[in-house]
Amino acid sequence: MNINNLSRKNIQALTPYQSARRLGGKGDIWLNANEYPISPNFDLIDRTFNRYPEPQPQAVVENYAAYAGVSPDNVLVSRGGDESIELIIRAFCEAEDSVMYCPPTYGMYAVSAQTCGVACKTVPLTVGFQLNLAEIERQLEGVKVVFVCSPNNPTGNLINRSDLLTLLNMTAGRAVVVVDEAYIEFCPEATLVTELANYPHLAIIRTLSKAFALAGLRCGFTLANGELIQILQKVIAPYPLPVPVSDIAAQALQPQGLQQMQSQVAETLKNRSELQKQLKNLPFVEQVYPSEANYLLVKFQDGQKVFQSLWEKGIILRDQHKALNLQNCIRITVGTKEENERVVEAIYALSGKE
Ligand SMILES: *Cc1c(COP(=O)(O)O)cnc(C)c1O
Repeated sequence: MNINNLSRKNIQALTPYQSARRLGGKGDIWLNANEYPISPNFDLIDRTFNRYPEPQPQAVVENYAAYAGVSPDNVLVSRGGDESIELIIRAFCEAEDSVMYCPPTYGMYAVSAQTCGVACKTVPLTVGFQLNLAEIERQLEGVKVVFVCSPNNPTGNLINRSDLLTLLNMTAGRAVVVVDEAYIEFCPEATLVTELANYPHLAIIRTLSKAFALAGLRCGFTLANGELIQILQKVIAPYPLPVPVSDIAAQALQPQGLQQMQSQVAETLKNRSELQKQLKNLPFVEQVYPSEANYLLVKFQDGQKVFQSLWEKGIILRDQHKALNLQNCIRITVGTKEENERVVEAIYALSGKE
């Protein structure tokens, strides 16, 4: 007996998400998962480990709502932003529906859809990494959820606000539009939260994994109108957040934690602009794309060679060679000043000019 034959056909066919951790590597410089390079320090306050946690921990919901400028019934907490992606697909898509996304973009939209047995329609981003609205409209039939990532991972740019509003108007009454704002803390003025009041079919994904430097916590959020949040409440696990997670998340969202996050953002932006400047002057670098997030997309003459050489030196970056229209591109997370300098030196050394 082959146990595989008992599993669902779509799971048999599924290629799991190639997460940074799954891809492995050996080294001391990890710039492949858009993490903040230094861990914040928190102590546990709540030690009621014998009890089930609150289904939606009140302190976390209230603190996040205050931070995001919405009311608590506009907030769902989940096990990372990734859980939100799957909850939305599970709650809104029948087997015959499809989801739509615009590559090159975050890989989990496709993986979650395939896991749920829901088809994917893809409408590639334009040359400038913006939405192709005409093509989206043409393919919208049967689409229940449209995922747009802004700032987009891995390209780093924002999606034009006016295009997002056009998309929201085009999809009203037909599909949920998910705007993935995992990196919004690096460009907070670009958030679509201010549009929630106008669009009952808008859902915004947030996370503590990036600017808050808490990827190990696994804590994310969906922001939407109360009716949409209520629908997701029906499908989420009864106790999604472990007590230690909500304990630390609540602390991270208090004024002092927010202040710390903002200084992390400032440090990242400073280091990003320095890294950008250094990379532009290196041999083999064809283009450093502009970025609104904590990573840079860089196009090299031979990206795979650069990726492999740095990998062997223990500098682990994210290869994008196989992503749509990103041949020879590498995504580099902004690290500490010292880490960024090591990256630049290692690339420079490839020219044999050290
Ligand atoms: C990191 C990331 C997420 C969510 O990450 P979690 O760690 O699951 O919160 C969602 N979308 C994008 C584009 C991301 O890069």
